[in-house]
Amino acid sequence: MVRADNVHKSYGATPVLNGVSLTVERGETVCVMGPSGSGKSTFLRCIHNLETIDAGRIRVDGELVGYREGRGGRLQHLGGREVCRQRSQIGMVFQHFNLFPHMTVLENVTAAQIRVKGVRPGEAEATGRKLLADVGLANKAGSYPRQLSGGQQQRVAIARALAMDPKVMLFDEPTSALDPELVGEVLAVIRDLARTGMTMIVVTHETGFAREAGDSLVFMDEGRVVEVGPRPRRDRRPPAREDPRVPLDDP
Ligand code: ATP
Ligand code: MG
Repeated sequence: MVRADNVHKSYGATPVLNGVSLTVERGETVCVMGPSGSGKSTFLRCIHNLETIDAGRIRVDGELVGYREGRGGRLQHLGGREVCRQRSQIGMVFQHFNLFPHMTVLENVTAAQIRVKGVRPGEAEATGRKLLADVGLANKAGSYPRQLSGGQQQRVAIARALAMDPKVMLFDEPTSALDPELVGEVLAVIRDLARTGMTMIVVTHETGFAREAGDSLVFMDEGRVVEVGPRPRRDRRPPAREDPRVPLDDP
């Protein structure tokens, strides 16, 4: 589903990615750990097409990210419209939730559906409400982000990314900005999402979560993947159900 081959990227003269290769199968959750500055965020940004790469290839669902292959295998940059289309197929959740402060929770999860995907408002609202229920926030649809805790805001950010029906979800340290008592509720939502069969890459420092929820664990250092943990042990997963996401109860 996601395949990175020998990806290189520098900022000016500073190499940041030095040949990253990683394959994430459909339905797999890969957790990425590694020291500060090792290139984890940059790698996710490259997959999301927020950065161009200098060499290598990234494919999502078989499609080259950011480029098209021209005659003789030469790469050409995609145009803005194509870049937007590719971005809309990838969900990204950041450390700082980046919700739209002037919009309600429901508007946050419907805006992109309506504006980017052209979904009718009624349909977008139905999808948004279902996703808010999935992340345990059915009763917060009319609230504004500032009225929510950090953990609740991050769950809205997850619902907002899911509303675009992405092929893959990327999480960049989704719990690092949270007070310790709020980390668990966000990890529970991500864990439930993994069980639905979503394809995910999760950059995290939560070792316990990575070992338990990840099908594999990858370590990055100095712009390389230096170690790949065990390959999928599907027996850790519960049998597939219709919709195994268990809503949390929020007061
Ligand atoms: P952390 O765990 O602290 O989030 P990281 O593994 O996510 O670290 P990156 O944010 O990918 O690391 O950064 C890798 C390197 O690239 C760092 O040395 C950083 O200073 C540099 N870097 C990142 N973004 C830019 C940028 N826009 N311009 C210049 N250098 C950058
Ligand atoms: Mg980072």
